[in-house]
Amino acid sequence: MSRLDSHLQAALARIDKAGQRRTLRATALAPRGRVIRDGRELVDFSSNDYLGLARHPLLTERAREWTARDGTGSGASRLVTGTSAAHLALEARIAAFKGTEAALLFASGWQANAAVIPALLAATPGVAVFTDRLIHASMHAGVAMAGVRQHRFRHNDLDHLETLLASKGADAPARLILTESVFSMDGDRADLPRLTAIAEAHDAALFVDEAHATGVLGPQGRGLSAEMPGRIDLVMGTFSKALGGFGAYVAGSRVLIDYLVNTASGFIFTTAPPPAVLGAIDAALDLVPGMDAERAHLAALGDRLREGLDALGLDHGHSSTQIVPAVIGAEEDAMALSAKLEAAGFLASAIRPPTVPPGTSRLRLALRASHSAADIDALLAAIGDAL
Ligand SMILES: *Cc1c(COP(=O)(O)O)cnc(C)c1O
Repeated sequence: MSRLDSHLQAALARIDKAGQRRTLRATALAPRGRVIRDGRELVDFSSNDYLGLARHPLLTERAREWTARDGTGSGASRLVTGTSAAHLALEARIAAFKGTEAALLFASGWQANAAVIPALLAATPGVAVFTDRLIHASMHAGVAMAGVRQHRFRHNDLDHLETLLASKGADAPARLILTESVFSMDGDRADLPRLTAIAEAHDAALFVDEAHATGVLGPQGRGLSAEMPGRIDLVMGTFSKALGGFGAYVAGSRVLIDYLVNTASGFIFTTAPPPAVLGAIDAALDLVPGMDAERAHLAALGDRLREGLDALGLDHGHSSTQIVPAVIGAEEDAMALSAKLEAAGFLASAIRPPTVPPGTSRLRLALRASHSAADIDALLAAIGDAL
């Protein structure tokens, strides 16, 4: 074994010892809210393909057409020769969809957060950063890359945020608040009307990650930020979840986007998204505004699932969306329940530390518009049997 591998082997052994070793398993999305894994069809409660667009014929067809027309690669990074007319047209479409002056494409949501946050923080040395404790790993990575210490407020506790802004932010040259509109592991929402008011009162900029709201919530699925045009400085979201494709966007003012084009390393030094990716996004944007029926169905399924979990005595926190946690507590118990459900034909992944805080291991149940009410009832019955 090489010297590197023996170091890595020792590190993996520590992960094993903590019972936290993870492995990759081949899985394929299938119709009717199913996936195929190990040759078995399972009812899927673990994917983020909320609207069923990842296999929609309009998306696959347009990805194919744009590939036939423009090829498989974009050729270079955006500032060199990688910007095509299609990139610029799509960015204008995204800005219109989000109700902002401008928008910028990124290779992925992780990359957008890890690129944009350090770029923003570099603009004003000494800026104070306030983060909800449960923000996504990619936002933490962005703050860490900037080498800035974050002031973390308790999850969705805006009184705590206000206290921190007053005590830690008052003397700073600028303030930035980072949060999500729908939290990825809890399925609850941030109170954006109050957050925008707090940001304005404390002269702070507000950055909202709409990874799980884009396509699903807000007017025509345009995200919760679309309910308050012009009040949020910077919105990001991904095309890889409800929009069924890949890549991400940042939307905001023209000045913000011009600044990012000039400073965001993860935008400048990476190859432009290729035609297939752009085509799928373009087709998704054709469909999403008209999918109110799917959104209403997702909301009804969420209510049905939460009522059923109540009847089983399981905590679902403050979920009010298509993401419903069933909080189990101990890591082993959550893992055991997930394994029993898989044996019974349901894919309901257990989420455990470090992704969620210790003692809150859970099933993260993600709904798909192609689920039926009977799928929810069958899942609840299986959870009841397993418990
Ligand atoms: C999934 C996710 C991301 C990352 O987006 P990708 O496009 O998958 O890289 C960022 N933020 C949140 C809240 C997410 O859930």
